[in-house]
Amino acid sequence: MEITIVGSGTVVPRLIRRQSCVAVETGKETLFFDLGSGAVRGMLHAGLDPFAVDRIFFTHFHPDHTVDVVPLLFAIKYGAEQERERPLALYGPEPFESFFGGITNVWGDWMLGDYLTQVHELSHTCSSPLDLPNLTVSWAPAEHRPESLAYRLEGENGAFVYTGDTEYAETIVELARGAHTLLIECSLPDDTPAPGHLTPSGVARIASEAGVERAVLTHVYPQADALDLVQEVGRGFEGEVVVAADGTKFSV
Ligand SMILES: [Zn+2]
Ligand SMILES: [Zn+2]
Repeated sequence: MEITIVGSGTVVPRLIRRQSCVAVETGKETLFFDLGSGAVRGMLHAGLDPFAVDRIFFTHFHPDHTVDVVPLLFAIKYGAEQERERPLALYGPEPFESFFGGITNVWGDWMLGDYLTQVHELSHTCSSPLDLPNLTVSWAPAEHRPESLAYRLEGENGAFVYTGDTEYAETIVELARGAHTLLIECSLPDDTPAPGHLTPSGVARIASEAGVERAVLTHVYPQADALDLVQEVGRGFEGEVVVAADGTKFSV
């Protein structure tokens, strides 16, 4: 799978980091994970086609992970050269149906086209992974908001895990066990932590306990950007550490 960090930022408005969004091209389909502010334009900057989307997954409902679903669906309906005919599937944690229903109460006629929109609410216990072309998707609770989920994509060359926003949690370690690449939030410095978020030492702890090969740091606040994050995480994790930028691409 080919992975593109579309947005690596947070709620803080910054020119160099858009809000959260990750694109995964599986060879068969295009998946987006989270759609924070600026995600749709960020896809263009990263050389991606927003209309290529087949499935959208959300980790939680904070606006910096969800708001661009409105301009994306509005663009699919009115901004595409060709009318969309194939279905679009959206996935989010419980209570995703009421969350998405709230958005469509406000914007619905402008967001929903004649194509089939499939809304899937994911239970916190992943009893059976989703079987998608070329990969399977499983998930586990993250420690951030009551609804928060992290996702694991298992492909033929290994697993990719995206934490969304979280603090240290054994569920994340289990989900990331043996993964090739862990895309993990690294919000703040160790000396100014915040509940529901990770600092470099927590990132290192999760990455080393899970035994991943590569940790890619995202959701970076300005205070953390002021640090040498590769060195900070490297104190507690022997694998490869990469600080994501908007547009960073890697393969698994
Ligand atoms: Zn966030
Ligand atoms: Zn959040």
